[in-house]
Amino acid sequence: MFTLPELPYAYDALGPYISKDIMVVHHTKHHQAYVDKFNKALESVPELKNRSLDSLLSEPDTIPDVIRLAIKNNGGGHYNHSLFWQGMTPGGGGEPTGELGKQIIQKYGSFQGFVDEFTTKSLGVFGSGWAWLQPNLEITTTVNQDTPIGQGLPTPLLGLDVWEHAYYLDYKNKRDDYVQAWWNVVNWDFVATRFDS
Ligand code: MN
Repeated sequence: MFTLPELPYAYDALGPYISKDIMVVHHTKHHQAYVDKFNKALESVPELKNRSLDSLLSEPDTIPDVIRLAIKNNGGGHYNHSLFWQGMTPGGGGEPTGELGKQIIQKYGSFQGFVDEFTTKSLGVFGSGWAWLQPNLEITTTVNQDTPIGQGLPTPLLGLDVWEHAYYLDYKNKRDDYVQAWWNVVNWDFVATRFDS
């Protein structure tokens, strides 16, 4: 059985950039629903019981047809949100230092160049999806709850949820305002630790 991970901070900790109202609904309703539906799908196929989340998502060919989509959507929702929470922290934002900061500047010309490209790709996701920072510092996107590992890519360093449910209560339809705000809560220490390892 997969379970909803606790947030590494309080529900109101990311204000004013992401409100308590959004965090509560997003974590206790949306993420919880993915976990519940994921477990329900797995229950119907006992042979998958001991498989890890990574293996279930990165080897879709090994999942029986009847639950493949449920695993991709709900397992993916669980995977994506679990990473999303960790990529944010109160008092976050700013710029990464160390090797990560150096290599981002090398690749994008400046930190702002990186922010601009990540922002543009996030805003370019049509409908619901995610933007990702890959270990090679490429920026990719996925639709719905598809995961980078489901596309044969490595485990990402950082993910941004651009589903409307992630911002509508605070920002209505203005995804760009949400993305601008999100930069203020990015947990660069978390990202740098993943990058260094
Ligand atoms: Mn979400």
